[in-house]
Amino acid sequence: MTHSTLTNAEIIAQEAQYTSGLYPKRPLAIVRGEGARLYDAEGRVYIDCVGGQGAANLGHCHPAIVTAIREQSERLISCPEIFPNDVRAAYLSELAAALPFPARIFLCNSGAEAVEAAIKFARLLTGRPGIIATMRGFHGRTMGALSATWESKYREPFLPLVPEFSHVPFGNLAALEKAIGPQTAAVLVEPVQGEGGVRPAPAGYLAGVAELCAAHGVLLLVDEVQTGFCRTGKLFAIEHSGIAPDILILAKSIAAGLPMGAVAIHERHGPLPTGAHGSTFGGNPLACAAARAALQVYQRERIAEQAAAKGEWLLQTLRDLRLPIVREVRGLGLLIGLELKSRSQPYIAALLEHGVLALPAGPNVLRLLPPLIIERQELEQVARAIATVLSSSSHGQDQE
Ligand code: PLP
Repeated sequence: MTHSTLTNAEIIAQEAQYTSGLYPKRPLAIVRGEGARLYDAEGRVYIDCVGGQGAANLGHCHPAIVTAIREQSERLISCPEIFPNDVRAAYLSELAAALPFPARIFLCNSGAEAVEAAIKFARLLTGRPGIIATMRGFHGRTMGALSATWESKYREPFLPLVPEFSHVPFGNLAALEKAIGPQTAAVLVEPVQGEGGVRPAPAGYLAGVAELCAAHGVLLLVDEVQTGFCRTGKLFAIEHSGIAPDILILAKSIAAGLPMGAVAIHERHGPLPTGAHGSTFGGNPLACAAARAALQVYQRERIAEQAAAKGEWLLQTLRDLRLPIVREVRGLGLLIGLELKSRSQPYIAALLEHGVLALPAGPNVLRLLPPLIIERQELEQVARAIATVLSSSSHGQDQE
């Protein structure tokens, strides 16, 4: 069936009655997806540049993922890690082989959970408490991950947070060196700050951070929750700079849409102490089956190269529009942000009317996270809709 028996308005009203209230909801109900397209309850089609907030790098209902989930769901869904499992064993070795450094892997269920685990592992491995993160960094909303997140609107209602976290300006190696002290366990950084405004690390920054960490005996934790799994044009964004962190944090598209996270710990740190951490659902066979299928598709269909080529085209096309409302177009691969001279929210609402779903990244940035399998003709449609909406003066009354 292409759409629902209920209307958008009926579903929105039903959901509004009992939902937590935490989410700023869009005025439509999504009921189906295929490739880079989503369908609302009344059959209207949208090009999806939200991409499951980064969890849908392979688009919606990719046949290889659907088959893997269907087959595994008939065999075994739940199996805690105290029992070895065939699908998990296979996935651990396949992911380890795909990583750009030798590693052991902890499996969990989300980005924030993976960040929490990485923070705990850094403290465990060094015996020190200090974590240095970056200004405008985003690492999730649980208490440890939130302590590493920069934005005060996420942090302030929940103070006091976990102690011994500090923040330095992203891109500034001198400030980082000054911040490292005898109590520092680790530095935590994103290769491209996603939520913080789509800001790729300046050239040489990540290599410089790695050097500083090595020189001071501090661990390097790289958060690739948003940049991982081909988003930036490489399977992992660290491949652009050739660094090998102590800990790599993964989630979002790892299992092509099923909830999953992973923490890869450099082999030189050896196995972690038994019982130091854990998760009931972590490494469950259903997520592992989806992740195995996803990794195969990433590699077989050369998704990273597709993301690089499509991203380059879209970045250039958006820059060539030379829209007066746009301050800067930036990004890496298909993680693209348009920094506007006014708030992005009204334009995101207008894009929806033009059949394109997009995201903010901070107040002034319009972020595009399309599935990496998006077709050229769909990208052209996105570029046309952006040109139309950002050329219209009716959405930007609150120019800065
Ligand atoms: N780290 C980064 C870089 C993210 O972008 C996000 C989510 O957007 C997270 C961590 C948190 O992931 P989750 O929402 O799965 O907890």
